[in-house]
Amino acid sequence: MDEAAAGPYRRIATEEAFSVPEVFAALQEWAGTAGPDEPDQDFLSFLFGQDLPGLRRVRRQLLDLEDERLAVMDDYGVDVHLLSLTAPGVQTLPDDRAIALAALVNDRLAAVIGRHPDRFAGLAAIAPQAPAAAAAEVRRAIGELKLNGVVINSHTRNEYLDDEKFWPIFEAAQDVGAPVYIHPRSPSAQMAQPYKRFGLETGIYGFQAETGLHGIRLICSGVFDRFPRLQIVLGHLGEGIPFWLWRVDYMHPVRSSHNARPKLELTPSEYFQRNFKITTSGMNWHPALRFCIEAVSADNIMWAIDYPYQLTEGAVRFMDDAPISDADKHKIFHRNAERVFGIAPAAGPARLGAAGPGQPAAG
Ligand code: MN
Repeated sequence: MDEAAAGPYRRIATEEAFSVPEVFAALQEWAGTAGPDEPDQDFLSFLFGQDLPGLRRVRRQLLDLEDERLAVMDDYGVDVHLLSLTAPGVQTLPDDRAIALAALVNDRLAAVIGRHPDRFAGLAAIAPQAPAAAAAEVRRAIGELKLNGVVINSHTRNEYLDDEKFWPIFEAAQDVGAPVYIHPRSPSAQMAQPYKRFGLETGIYGFQAETGLHGIRLICSGVFDRFPRLQIVLGHLGEGIPFWLWRVDYMHPVRSSHNARPKLELTPSEYFQRNFKITTSGMNWHPALRFCIEAVSADNIMWAIDYPYQLTEGAVRFMDDAPISDADKHKIFHRNAERVFGIAPAAGPARLGAAGPGQPAAG
């Protein structure tokens, strides 16, 4: 048995990407016509433009839901993938096409979850560029399709969700109790330029800088005074924000007259504790995990792989071997995800890695 796969934990992975052929085709078409300064042109040219074995694998694994994916999950003892349409979702596309594709993706996602209710959960794709339609899709995806939350890939056409025109989406999410996972994409055009040299726009740093900024903007906008029960989820151990919280609290009351921040009911770190959850996607690093447990509590952290961009084995080994308490490991591997995303607790005992497809683990 693979040593990394042994363990008595139910493993729910919370930032697991997929796509469908219709969205792939739309994104490829978009990448072929968009100018070089369009955000994510770099990422999509990389994803679609290269004939490297690693990228062929990623493309294949994004489009697969029920074959290779389930086999990889079984091989490493992963019980559940919380699926989300890969970045940038439909957010680069024209309104009508984006609205239609989001609905198609959500219908297909619900069907796949229906066939494998103990292996998959899912986040709804929406088109934030059309806020009213996006809010309606949030209500349909949660109310009718029974999906587990919503994914938004950071900015949409270089605009951020603190802009009140997007708040119908938050109103709908709060009403139906849907957490909003803000997933990275390349920095908006306004901030992208200095990231272009040395290829810093994507996972090495730009994704984190973009998405961390988005989280801070939401806190400072007062959106959580308006929607106090809204839940935001950030990957990559909080996109840098936990490390910076003390200083944000310290600096937040310091206001200059020409750039006044709204007065808020709570401190920034109090909003982070109340309104945010973070996941370990793509951050398989024990010192950072232990810091985040101390800074924001194990109750606010969930495990993720970032399949297929990162490998399952490393993410499983990282959490299996984490030098943290057994109670915290249960919270991070599955209990918080069950609570936050409304994923039903396991009916039987936890699955053991390498136990074979569908074979229940003993003990
Ligand atoms: Mn991801």
